[in-house]
Amino acid sequence: MIKAITGTKDILPSEIAKWYYLETIVKEIFSKFNYKEIRTPIFENTSLFARGIGEATDIVSKEMYTFLDRSGESLTLRPELTASVVRAFIEHSLEKKQSLNKIFYIGPMFRQERPQAGRFRQFHQFGAEALGSSDPLLDAEMIIMAFDILNKLGLKNLEVKINSLGVPTEREEYKKILRDYLKQFLSKLSDESKKRLETNVLRIFDSKDERDIEIMKNAPLLIDHLQKESIEHFEIVKSVLTKAEVPFIVEPSLVRGLDYYTHTTFEIVSKSVGSQSALCGGGRYNGLIKELGGSDLPGVGFAAGMERILLACENENSFSLPEEKIDLYIITLDKTKYEISFDLSLKLRRKGITVELDYLSRSVKAQMREANKLNADYVLFVGGEELARNEVVLKNMKTSEQEIISLNEFDLLIKKLGD
Ligand code: AMP
Repeated sequence: MIKAITGTKDILPSEIAKWYYLETIVKEIFSKFNYKEIRTPIFENTSLFARGIGEATDIVSKEMYTFLDRSGESLTLRPELTASVVRAFIEHSLEKKQSLNKIFYIGPMFRQERPQAGRFRQFHQFGAEALGSSDPLLDAEMIIMAFDILNKLGLKNLEVKINSLGVPTEREEYKKILRDYLKQFLSKLSDESKKRLETNVLRIFDSKDERDIEIMKNAPLLIDHLQKESIEHFEIVKSVLTKAEVPFIVEPSLVRGLDYYTHTTFEIVSKSVGSQSALCGGGRYNGLIKELGGSDLPGVGFAAGMERILLACENENSFSLPEEKIDLYIITLDKTKYEISFDLSLKLRRKGITVELDYLSRSVKAQMREANKLNADYVLFVGGEELARNEVVLKNMKTSEQEIISLNEFDLLIKKLGD
């Protein structure tokens, strides 16, 4: 039997309601902040991600689904969407149409990571990008939107961590200081961190190796090496978050995996899921648009993992969906009358009423069982003597009241079912 690929998951019809609910909240909150949706292709040229995310990142060096197509071009299934959004922004000269572009997205992403609880190879993210302004209000807006979405889903055990990575000159200066500090411990560092010392030294803060963690405890921090402008930018973000009642902590070791961040970075973690606790992350990336061949324009954004959010919601029992039901189930009493039932169902469906009927030639008893299973408000009996008189019997499933309705009074039927 052919099964789904490891690390991918079917979202079954029985699970779709919670996805719709999440998507509705996401769209509702983004639209209140005037973000408009973008839909970009699932695959792109590999070089877009290599350049846009950074060769030295885990995503690009280890996790991308990259393949040659039949014409020998290297393509990659998108591992995240910021690079694609920026590509589309440049390709369509969106900055000429609007000086600030506020864009959101929802969709699947692909990374060849080791699957575990909360970590998949195809997973879904929603996210937002604001392209064209370096206003720290937008850094705060990203965090507020992410927080408001999680809040609206009823999630409680959240921790908002923020940090500032300053600007590239400050970071380059600081990287030298960090390398100098780490060189004293060279022999004690893990092999991975030894490699990162030259390629991506900030990422050593993310190491899970005990020895690295011990060494990093006393490492100099970037936040202590920022200049006035970066400090001011960060102060505004913090004060806006405080006024917006978003509780946060400053986490100086929060460096995140991507090369293109400047100023604010943030992450929201949940204490209600296992080790994969990051629900969302993002930050400002003032160098990215230029890096990908566009104008030197600033940007800020975030992405959130939908499977993890739904897992946190489930673990916290944070929302309950309304019970699923239908308006009407048509019970066909006589096997020769199915076409009449179908015709009736169609007329009612076209008037906006949710109707189901039997397609399996089941017994009346089995049809009644199905009506109960589907939680129908009403059942309609089609057949027998009544139908011979052009009538049907409508039963209210809550009160068990029954009444005979003439098919000549179709509007009456619609009225009753619509109430
Ligand atoms: P990133 O794009 O790595 O900053 O990830 C943003 C968010 O996407 C994370 O906080 C997770 O919630 C989610 N995410 C990232 N990778 C995965 C994965 N392999 N499986 C499930 N969710 C993921």
